[in-house]
Amino acid sequence: MPRSSSSRRANKWARPHRELGASLNSVPRAAEGPDGTWVVQQVRGSSSGKVYTCPGCLQDLPARMDHIVAWRSEEEFGFNTGVGARRHWHRACFRSRPPR
Ligand SMILES: [Zn+2]
Repeated sequence: MPRSSSSRRANKWARPHRELGASLNSVPRAAEGPDGTWVVQQVRGSSSGKVYTCPGCLQDLPARMDHIVAWRSEEEFGFNTGVGARRHWHRACFRSRPPR
């Protein structure tokens, strides 16, 4: 009895190329500010239903809004150390955050 096998393999190359995150979130990037270096990520609004508190104005920031996720890049600890301290900001609030 012959095995019917080899027809599966071709699919690997037939898959459409996924645009990774093209319609979702941008790549985090470092931004120098008067109050130090921040890692900033632009976030598209989502339907997750979450509500964050913006640290700039202490108002609600629904996840459905486009906004910014930012955290401090503490050089002495490495690029990603601040990830646990990520905060969700209104775009305008992050831009106008007060210098320390
Ligand atoms: Zn705000």
